[in-house]
Amino acid sequence: MKVLVVNCGSSSVKYQLLNMKDESVMARGLAERVGIDGSRLKHQAQGKSEVIIEKAMPDHKAALKIITDVLVDEKNGVIKDTKEIAAVGHRVVHGGEKFSGSVKITDEVMETLRECSDLAPLHNPPNIMGIEACRQLMPGIPMAGTFDTAFHHTIPDYAYIYPLPYEYYKKYGVRKYGFHGTSHKYVAEKAAQVLGIPVEKLKIITCHLGNGASITAVDGGKSVETSMGFTPLEGLAMGTRCGSIDPAITAFIVEKEKMTAEQVNNMLNKRSGVLGISGISSDFRDLEQAAQKGDKRAQLAIDVFAYKVRKFIGSYSAVMNGVDVIVFTAGLGENSISMREKICRGFEYLGLELDVHANNVRGKATIISKPNSKVKAMVVPTNEELMIARDTVRIIG
Ligand code: ADP
Repeated sequence: MKVLVVNCGSSSVKYQLLNMKDESVMARGLAERVGIDGSRLKHQAQGKSEVIIEKAMPDHKAALKIITDVLVDEKNGVIKDTKEIAAVGHRVVHGGEKFSGSVKITDEVMETLRECSDLAPLHNPPNIMGIEACRQLMPGIPMAGTFDTAFHHTIPDYAYIYPLPYEYYKKYGVRKYGFHGTSHKYVAEKAAQVLGIPVEKLKIITCHLGNGASITAVDGGKSVETSMGFTPLEGLAMGTRCGSIDPAITAFIVEKEKMTAEQVNNMLNKRSGVLGISGISSDFRDLEQAAQKGDKRAQLAIDVFAYKVRKFIGSYSAVMNGVDVIVFTAGLGENSISMREKICRGFEYLGLELDVHANNVRGKATIISKPNSKVKAMVVPTNEELMIARDTVRIIG
């Protein structure tokens, strides 16, 4: 069974075609600058070199047409006909309170997704466009949606209700939803598998540290608390997002800088985080380089980021009455040896002892704590596409 996994962003489409017989990736790629001048597709078929196709992609449908064409292309393709694709799995950012797991896409589901768009105006519309385009380009092929929010449905009400007038929750659905759920679930289960202990028996803190970053407390395989909230802006300091700040700052800056609500939202999402502190970059590779050369603000940005991660780890071990495993994943979590070391230092009180030699690893599932460390620290590369493909197979059958 071949499953196409599609992840549509506002100006991008990421995809993977997986052969679910052995869960191997047959082809993968990324369409960039969709709807903007200079769109291009980077496509790689298994065992072949990467090709770059520069072609206009005025919308997601045009991008997906080019993607389905390259998948069946004689030279760069991996299948003869799109009919070989048994199902398509879509990543959908926001499932609201309605979806607690992946679902088969139907007209009714599409209607509910449109309703959820109000909660995720930046993320859900491109996801919906992608699903609609695939339904037109591959009629009759069953499709499933996997939600970033679904894994967090188990968070208790006292953790997801904000101390605001309750009517905003009732009227507008203002509550914590949490994101990156597919990744948190995948790495928690994978960590348990690597340790050879059932996930139901473990208290795990999963740290998804990429451009967007979030932390989840996974107790017995279920999300019980997570750092992102009503939107992906809450929680940790991130590449360009501020994370949790005093909410009164927003009104203060609006007044001082004469900003509109949209401008301030944009500033908090795009010009803050480690980019805002350093004034250099949102990418930790640039920050680490600059800090090594003595740039104080780059160092401060790194310090702030690590400090926030440590605070969340401390509070989530309190939430779960302890922690057995701390997992690092995503771009920074999988690759930054120095950031992991900085985060794990001074956790002896928790019972975590980092093994600096084992920590000298990138992008490979590894235990990075000392063998006798009571709390294990691990690197587990995330694989949201595989999780979506597995769910799609389960749902489509
Ligand atoms: P996204 O949220 O966009 O999916 P990723 O999970 O791909 O993000 O993470 C991207 C981030 O990971 C980069 O911005 C960079 O900060 C960080 N990163 C990737 N590789 C390294 C590395 N070798 N060292 C330090 N940071 C890295």
